[in-house]
Amino acid sequence: MVGYFRDNADLGYYFQHGIDWASLMPVLELAPGSGDGFKDAAEAVQLYQEVAERVGDFAAHEVTPHAAEIDREGVRFAKGEAWFPERLQSIFDKVAALGLHGLTLPRELGGMNAPMLLYLVNCELLARADISVMAHYAFHTGPAMALLLFSLQEGSTQLDVESGRVEATRWRAAIEEIARGEAWGSMDITEPGAGSDMAALRTRAELDDQGRWRVTGEKVFITSGHGKYHFVLARSEPLAAADDLKAGLAGLSLFLVPAYQDEPDGRRTRFVSIDRVEHKLGHNGSATVALRFDGSPAELIGKRGDGFRQMLEFMNHARLSVGFESIGLCEAALRLARAYAAERRSMGKPIDQHEMIADYLAEMEIEIVSLRALAMDAAYHDELGQKKLLFGRHLARDEASRVALEREARAHLARVRRLTPLLKYQAAEKAVEMTRRCLQIHGGNGYMREYPAEKLVRDALVMPIYEGTSQIQALMAMKDTLGAVLKKPRAFAQRLAGARLASLSRLDPLERGVARLQHLSLSAQQHLLTRTFAAKIEDLRRRSLPPWHGWMKDWDPKRDFGFAMLHAERLIRLLADEACAEILLGQARRHPERRVLLERFLERAEPRARFCHDEITTRRRARLEAAVEVTHHALVDKLAAE
Ligand SMILES: Cc1cc2nc3c(=O)[nH]c(=O)nc-3n(C[C@H](O)[C@H](O)[C@H](O)COP(=O)(O)OP(=O)(O)OC[C@H]3O[C@@H](n4cnc5c(N)ncnc54)[C@H](O)[C@@H]3O)c2cc1C
Repeated sequence: MVGYFRDNADLGYYFQHGIDWASLMPVLELAPGSGDGFKDAAEAVQLYQEVAERVGDFAAHEVTPHAAEIDREGVRFAKGEAWFPERLQSIFDKVAALGLHGLTLPRELGGMNAPMLLYLVNCELLARADISVMAHYAFHTGPAMALLLFSLQEGSTQLDVESGRVEATRWRAAIEEIARGEAWGSMDITEPGAGSDMAALRTRAELDDQGRWRVTGEKVFITSGHGKYHFVLARSEPLAAADDLKAGLAGLSLFLVPAYQDEPDGRRTRFVSIDRVEHKLGHNGSATVALRFDGSPAELIGKRGDGFRQMLEFMNHARLSVGFESIGLCEAALRLARAYAAERRSMGKPIDQHEMIADYLAEMEIEIVSLRALAMDAAYHDELGQKKLLFGRHLARDEASRVALEREARAHLARVRRLTPLLKYQAAEKAVEMTRRCLQIHGGNGYMREYPAEKLVRDALVMPIYEGTSQIQALMAMKDTLGAVLKKPRAFAQRLAGARLASLSRLDPLERGVARLQHLSLSAQQHLLTRTFAAKIEDLRRRSLPPWHGWMKDWDPKRDFGFAMLHAERLIRLLADEACAEILLGQARRHPERRVLLERFLERAEPRARFCHDEITTRRRARLEAAVEVTHHALVDKLAAE
């Protein structure tokens, strides 16, 4: 079997042409050709590709053959610890031996100074083999990088300004331990009573008599939570009012809580106890645990009250990796479905020659290409944005270059902020859709445990749930998109008119197609805002003495954006298709051999965008009231039954 990188021409495109690696080099290697860096971009890309090939080979030959066994055996809970089965442990010993855990860390901290983009490609390759292996892999690199970044942000890392090398950093020992594969981290947010609603988190952090932080509370569903280094979101500031969303979030701080210490005599002293390993539908090789903190010693990261912002930063990276993870699942589903459909015959021919099945497979293929384009674009801009920000803040030689670097960084990061929820939403939803389609193509066999299709569905179902549900991604995208329109209404009107004109006047039919998609998206946004404004004015008219003065400032998201919230998921679908089309158009302009991909994408994206647009623009506000009414009746029925 060919490895998962070598058999994937679309992935190869990004290493050969699709990514502008030369533009990444100045932020990856400060002084090319000096020290242990690369002599030029070509040499670096060659090494990155070799790493991706090795990981792809490893995934295909050493993970996939054991995926069913890993799923069957799961993770054991005994003597207060979660235990990996031998097979999974041996896979992780090999991952460590390949040096993958520290891949993106600076060389002086035991890493290879590779781009995060390479790490994300590895996430896709490993996810194609087994989702649990990928998830646990991510909880090495992710926390190690986060420790370094948070330390840079709070000013507890010293860099050599000439070489950019790390001279000292607050969590050096932990970072190096993780890079060696001897420890890993986890992100502890969710509690029994709060997941999406972080303002409702109740785990407490308090200072003891000696001025040390102690964390007390319960966290559930924590992936790789049997690890050592826990990023814990806890309430360090008192809650002024129970329902004040902002106060709820502003009272949160981020802590590093080491869960245990291994003593020289081999005993383990635990500061955080594992209550149980959760029983899940899928992801069985991944240790998802419930944790109890009981005055556990903790270190404050950064400033008090800054936890929500810091965790969002961490989560945004994690959302990018869920995007790549979901693409890996989609790729697995496509390959499995394609192989089965080519072999299985019905009504005198292989089932892949029946029109419907052929169409399913063709659709899966083009959807994966478009998702990967979105993912790669987001990852590329994230790399540039994050690194330019760090360079600007810590290594700029003068004020002018600091200002220039930070301005460039902000532009890249604004793009990442736009693309991340679209990627997380679209890739996660497609993973569910495609794995289900793969099962369907397997017919009755698909439903049987002997075939790998059902495992893919079980594993995929969590993609739209963790790292922020699909609904939360939709709300974030809606808020950012409409907020941007409100900030610059004139620019929005120009874009709307420009898209309309381009959809009619561009000579290239593909450019016209992309402009039509943009116009559908912009016109849906216009409709949502018009209806929101109309409702607001209606609300003001109903008041006896309308407070017209300052009414624009008097916006309450819960009250005034109900109509936009109703349509947030339709809007995010439109936005995701629009973004994919724009990125594929950019690729087609640079590399005409990709035009055919854009053509195939538009053929499917345009009708579904029209459908979402029509649903948004033709559903009346009355429907919203009716929907809320139905929920109310359901509640009344429930209360009556009780
Ligand atoms: C396998 C697995 C691994 C996980 N790993 C981790 C981890 O490592 N760390 C961690 O902290 N957590 C983890 N989680 C928890 C996960 O992040 C949460 O389950 C998720 O954020 C949703 O929170 P919840 O379960 O409380 O659902 P709720 O917040 O109760 O949501 C229930 C439903 O309501 C919807 N909803 C909620 N609010 C709104 C709204 N305003 N508008 C519209 N719809 C809304 C949600 O989208 C969802 O569909 C994991 C979960 C699973 C299943």
